[in-house]
Amino acid sequence: MFLDTNVKAIILLVLLSLIALAAHRLGFLDTHLPLISGTHVNLISEIKEGNITSEFKQETDLSASVQCHLTHSAGFNLCGISIALGAEGPKSGLNLAKYDRLEIDLGFRSPMPHQKVKVSFRNFHKAYSRPEDLVSLKFNTITYDPSVYEPPLIVPLHSFYVENWWLAQYNVGFNHSQTDFSNVSFIEFLTTDMSVPGVYELEVRSALLRGQWLTETELLRYIFLVWLAIVILVVTRQRNQLKRLAVMDLVTESYNRRGVNQWVTRALSKSTVCLFYIDIAGFKKINDAYGHLSGDELLRQFSNRIRKDLYAFHERSAVISRLSGDEFLLVFKDLDPDQTQTLIKDLFSLLQEPFDLSGNQVIINIHLGVAHSSETVNTFNDIVVQADSAMYFARKSDSIRYKVFDESVSHDIYFRKQIAEQIKDAISEDLFLLHFMPIYNSQTLKIDAVEVLLRCQSGRLSGVGPDIFIPIAEEYNLIKAIDLWVIEETFKKIHQERSLLMDLTVVFCINISSAELHNTSFSLQLGSLLDKYHIKPQWIKLEITETSFIETGASSIKILNEIRSLGIQLALDDFGTGYTAFNQLIHYPIDCLKIDKSFIDNVGSKNETTESMIEAILLIAKSYKLETIAEGIENADQYRYMAANGCDLMQGYFLAKPMDWQSFKSLLSYPRTEALRAKIEGSSGQTEN
Ligand code: C2E
Ligand code: MG
Ligand code: MG
Repeated sequence: MFLDTNVKAIILLVLLSLIALAAHRLGFLDTHLPLISGTHVNLISEIKEGNITSEFKQETDLSASVQCHLTHSAGFNLCGISIALGAEGPKSGLNLAKYDRLEIDLGFRSPMPHQKVKVSFRNFHKAYSRPEDLVSLKFNTITYDPSVYEPPLIVPLHSFYVENWWLAQYNVGFNHSQTDFSNVSFIEFLTTDMSVPGVYELEVRSALLRGQWLTETELLRYIFLVWLAIVILVVTRQRNQLKRLAVMDLVTESYNRRGVNQWVTRALSKSTVCLFYIDIAGFKKINDAYGHLSGDELLRQFSNRIRKDLYAFHERSAVISRLSGDEFLLVFKDLDPDQTQTLIKDLFSLLQEPFDLSGNQVIINIHLGVAHSSETVNTFNDIVVQADSAMYFARKSDSIRYKVFDESVSHDIYFRKQIAEQIKDAISEDLFLLHFMPIYNSQTLKIDAVEVLLRCQSGRLSGVGPDIFIPIAEEYNLIKAIDLWVIEETFKKIHQERSLLMDLTVVFCINISSAELHNTSFSLQLGSLLDKYHIKPQWIKLEITETSFIETGASSIKILNEIRSLGIQLALDDFGTGYTAFNQLIHYPIDCLKIDKSFIDNVGSKNETTESMIEAILLIAKSYKLETIAEGIENADQYRYMAANGCDLMQGYFLAKPMDWQSFKSLLSYPRTEALRAKIEGSSGQTEN
């Protein structure tokens, strides 16, 4: 079972804490100190005072005894044994904090019954003790009658008390009446009350301090401290990890947008920066072809190769970041124009080597935009906008692979922004209109279909065709409104002209943008418009360009299938420009191929490759039962060639140009088929403009 390391650490800690507590309870942490023997004992001596003769014996190093003869009892008499615990005089005693009880085995004989013995721990404290006056060491004492207790006697240290005579003699006050075992220099065993002459014999058979390395409270405190330390450690680690995650891209282990933003902002305070905005061309295709894991692997290898092989990275003056999907930023500090050019060259030559994706050798192309910080462009966002626009500029262009931001880019952005504003105005002021371009049956020359083409009557946009403003509308997210407007307008038109169209079965071909391939509500909207205007779905065909098709995933295919299940047909527009492998066609839910004008342009140009391509396309389309339309027929030769090779439908200036509805309507009513046939059979090679 998988457990998070933090959970594991906590389980381990709980176990260790329980083990420590159990060990403590079971006495594994107990300790003892023999007072007579052992390293701390340096002196055992007798003490006597008064009319006494004595004999002192230390028989083994574990016991000692003293025999005292009191000859007459006048004055103050005492006799006993002293053990010095301090190795270097009274000042250096032992700290007995670890011990909580004294275990003693005493033998005592006295001429008086029930005579008591006094046991004193003598503590040196600089507040009240003087080294030259040993009596000034605090007397922490118990007094007891050894004949009453079975040895060994165990006395808790808290039963000791400070002797009153001592307090009085040293005038230390009651604040010192607490026992003190912090610096014990001596332990003494003494007789008390020697008032009767005779023999007093005191034998210390053993004296032992017992205690624990740690008290339970101390142990709990330590456990608590360890817990606290571990919790702080885990929380800090977690926080660091979160901080790291907030600035890192997990796939490539490079900075994400936020991380590189911070890096650049810091760098800008001291240096200039140069920003490379990289877009990997066709990354989606690689993802689709080899799977997402390989896609991730490619991103990893890509960023590793740059980190490893681009010299600026070795000088620690550069950083790489993955902004999103297949977009990367390289940022360099203090680059001059020459170095920038060298780095651009190096970057492209790095990418000439293929990447190994589980045995598949993949070469990638990139689009690169470069921008430098300047006095006015001095924030991360501003530089990224410039580098991004430069990259976009390079990506649009067929001839350049990279672009360093300059005036031409800024004009381009300006132009696009202007157009976008005008599109917005055209939408809100209802300035769009539709033109219609007939599509002819190549055999009967009947108008079988019509392509609906968008026009704008706004003065400012009128010179700009849909081939320019549609991509800008897509870029500025205005296209969905336009697509729906075109569809609804077309449906309205069909509805208005029902009586005419009923007899003629003309299919309306409406262009939709690639944005609809990600619009999950598109088929619903389409369905409700069909209902609203009572449109038969077989009258409608939607055209999607091949290039937008290539960038689709499974979810887009689902949307396309939904559209088809409404009964609407789908055509692959501009076919031949997107490099769809023929065998991929079978996986696309489409009914029709519109062969791109660029192929038709080459018909008759003695370009055998084009012609054999066209023939192959038509053959394959037939075998997949796909309808074919030739786009951009501009002369009779092209028409005849396409018709002879089995192309089903024809569209082009040679046959008819896009026109307004009125013109189209009259063409439908008066098709002039014979005149057209004569034109096809008569003219040769003359191109219509
Ligand atoms: P498309 O869908 O491939 O449309 C065909 C374009 O080729 C039209 O240009 C048409 O006028 C032009 N064309 C057709 N035959 C000939 C010919 O023989 N010679 C020449 N020189 N041109 C010919 P248009 O109307 O400028 O449209 C350009 C593109 O704009 C369209 O390409 C389509 O992708 C897009 N578009 C047009 N209308 C719409 C629309 O309503 N919605 C969307 N999303 N895109 C549209
Ligand atoms: Mg089209
Ligand atoms: Mg086309």
